[in-house]
This record gives sequence, structure tokens and C-alpha cells, in this order.
Amino acid sequence: MSDWSEEILHRDFRLKLKVDRVLFDSETEHQRLKLFENATFGRVLTLDSITQTTEADEFIYHEMMAHPAILAHGNAKRVLIIGGGDGGMAEEVLKHKSVEHVTMVEIDAGVVEFSKQYLPNICKGAFDDPRLNLVITDGAKFVAETEGRFDVTIIDSTDPMGPGEVLFTETFYGNVKRCLNEGGVVVTQNGVPFLQPGELSQTVGIFRKLFRDASCYLATIPTYAGGPMAFGWGTDDPALRQVSEETLATRFAAAGFETRYYTPAVHKGAFALPPYVQDVIR
Ligand code: SAM
Repeated sequence: MSDWSEEILHRDFRLKLKVDRVLFDSETEHQRLKLFENATFGRVLTLDSITQTTEADEFIYHEMMAHPAILAHGNAKRVLIIGGGDGGMAEEVLKHKSVEHVTMVEIDAGVVEFSKQYLPNICKGAFDDPRLNLVITDGAKFVAETEGRFDVTIIDSTDPMGPGEVLFTETFYGNVKRCLNEGGVVVTQNGVPFLQPGELSQTVGIFRKLFRDASCYLATIPTYAGGPMAFGWGTDDPALRQVSEETLATRFAAAGFETRYYTPAVHKGAFALPPYVQDVIR
């Protein structure tokens, strides 16, 4: 009898992934952490039964959260990652040799230790990179207290439940802005708008109050089922969203690494929102 891992994120829509082999299944200090193997997606990490990342499609999510903000900014030296315990986001950000310092604030040490051991294909050498400063604490507490300032902030969080809930609040976003350098930009994991319109609408609505430019962009990650995923975008520099494909291409070429999803053309296209998503963030 095959075993299946059922995701219970949405009320009327569920995703099941076949479990070929369970590698780990236990409670950490904050959440239930399970890792299993699936013939199509490779190793799959779930937290409280919700798919966080898979070896097969993590490149889409991590490339599309890391590169648009860094390449649009054009001179990002200090990057803040909130969440990102699997190390995939840090790995992608650290491909930019122009980035001098990455602070990664993860609430759950168990996710980091576990990912180092079981997900080396995702975190690769990120945790050993001397530019990475790993802080184990609540991201909301960190941005409320830090003296640090950042050019790009990436909120690579779980969904707004459990420990992740605080990372979708106005107080948190206000403190994220407090920690942004002039011309800085923040991007957020904001769910699948076809199924989770409320959280995107809330984030962009708060960003509209905090920033001169607030929007989102899209990418489709197979295991975040229900349609394209939205990434919130907030900055006081409206020009960042207007950077030309030519300029992005020059910067991307200078960065000198390969990608499997991100291209400057895909970057520009990601911000072309269909009317149903425009309606969500109106
Ligand atoms: N790609 C995933 C997604 O789209 O849902 C997110 C991946 S990453 C594993 C999410 C991380 O956010 C987890 O490691 C979790 O422990 C962390 N996290 C949740 N709440 C947090 C908080 N308040 N402060 C810092 N990290 C948090």
C-alpha cells in the first residue's frame, strides 16, 4: 500500500505527494518537520505538512526570489533573509559575488541542522560561506531590534500560520522597512493568489502604506499547487521595477552564473500581471 503525504494548506483543495521513503519525521522546537523521497520531486521537505521545498523544483522559487531584487537594485551589498532554513535562498543570493554580507534569520535551528544533513543538493555550500551570518531567532524580533541595514530583504517564510504568521503583519513590515537602506527593496513569499488572495492583498495593501512602490510578480512552482505563486515587492524607488531588460541582461551577464529559470526577459515578464491578480492587489 503506497504512502502519501497530504498537504492541508487550503480548505477545498489538497495536494498529495507519494512517499517512496521517509528520511525524517519529528517535531522540532517550533513545527513538525518531515522529509521524504518522491520519484518525481526528489527529496521533499514539509513543515506542519505543508510543502516547503523539493529538490526538483526549488531552483524556480529560489532563483525568482533572489535575482529580481538583487539585479534590479544593481548594487546590493548587504542582504537580509528572513526564514529560508533550508539554505536554498542563501545559496542563490551568495552566487552574486557583489553581495558582501548575507544575514539569515531563521527561527528553527532544527530546520537548518536538518537541511545541512539531508538537503545538501539545495543548500550546497551556503552555510559554510564566510559572507553568511546565520541568526537563530524570530525574524519579527530581529527586525524590531537590529541596528543592521540592508539593500535587499527576502522574506522566505512559511505561510501565515504558526511561527510564520507574524511575518505577514504591518508591524513586521514596518520594521523591515526601518532596516532597509535608501533605495532598498523587500520581496516576500506571498502564496498562490488563485487560492490565497487574502494574504497577497494584505501584504501589498500594507506595502502601499509603507512604500512609494508596491506590487508583486509571479512564477509557477509545481509543488506550490493551484497556479502561479506571487512574490510581494516593496520599495521607495519606483525605478527598480522599471529597470530595462537590457540593463538587467548586462548586470546578469556580469554576475557570471547560470540559472535554469531566471532570465532578464522572464524577470520583466513576471511583473506582467493578469487581471485576476491585478484585482487582488488593487
Ligand atoms: N519556500 C517555502 C515556502 O514558500 O513556503 C519557505 C521555505 S523556508 C523552509 C521557510 C522557513 O521560515 C522555515 O525554515 C521556518 O522555520 C521559517 N520561519 C517561520 N516563521 C519564522 C519566523 N517568525 N522567523 C524566522 N523564520 C521563520
